[in-house]
Amino acid sequence: MSGAVSRRMLAAWLREVGVDYVMLPARGSSSGRAVRASPAAGEEAATVAPSGAAAETLDDIREELTDCRRCPLCAGRATVVFGVGNPRARLMFVGEGPGSEEDRRGEPFVGAAGKRLDRWIARIGLRREDVYIANIVKCRPPGNRPPTPDEAKVCLPYLLRQIRAIRPEIVCTLGATALNFLLGVEEKITRERGKWRERDGVPVLPTYHPAFILRDPARETEVFGDFDLLASRLRRPKAK
Ligand code: URA
Repeated sequence: MSGAVSRRMLAAWLREVGVDYVMLPARGSSSGRAVRASPAAGEEAATVAPSGAAAETLDDIREELTDCRRCPLCAGRATVVFGVGNPRARLMFVGEGPGSEEDRRGEPFVGAAGKRLDRWIARIGLRREDVYIANIVKCRPPGNRPPTPDEAKVCLPYLLRQIRAIRPEIVCTLGATALNFLLGVEEKITRERGKWRERDGVPVLPTYHPAFILRDPARETEVFGDFDLLASRLRRPKAK
């Protein structure tokens, strides 16, 4: 029996006897961390803190992706582009996947599209360091093509865990690929941008990808409208 199967069986049994979390000893420390015993279908076990237990950190997740070989994108990448920004960001952006510049520098949205994204962020009075930026896939798809559904499926659990660790008040998806893979839908971004959605209880606002706006600048006024929505939601008192 493989380790993966036995872990799944153990998780199923724990769930059946009413255990949702188990404490694993943290390496080199006397404290432990809470690991969810019952991952959702298709997701790896995620560390989510029930009250009183230590939450999974971005570094815990990053560590798991060091030298990741879980999908074929590893063959062509220089760097695993994990994500960047404030680990306690109120606003998080999700793009598609790293391009060549991002792959080289190990940071999402650092090329021309990234500069445009920075301008949009500045427009609502924030800096790149205030928000968190990640992608659907963490390794560069060859030729800057969108990730395949299989590639996205392998990488998505890590993005969901990043969202749980950061606990942003809002996630803004950039472009159709981010919208569709994050929400598990097949929508047209031209129809769905500017409409609030939700993923795991977190409000999600889709807008255009900055690379699309570089090609079709006339549509940038729609993005400005979407960023106004983000800003006014961030001004609302935080729901308890
Ligand atoms: N486009 C994306 O979707 N993500 C990046 O990180 C860069 C460009």
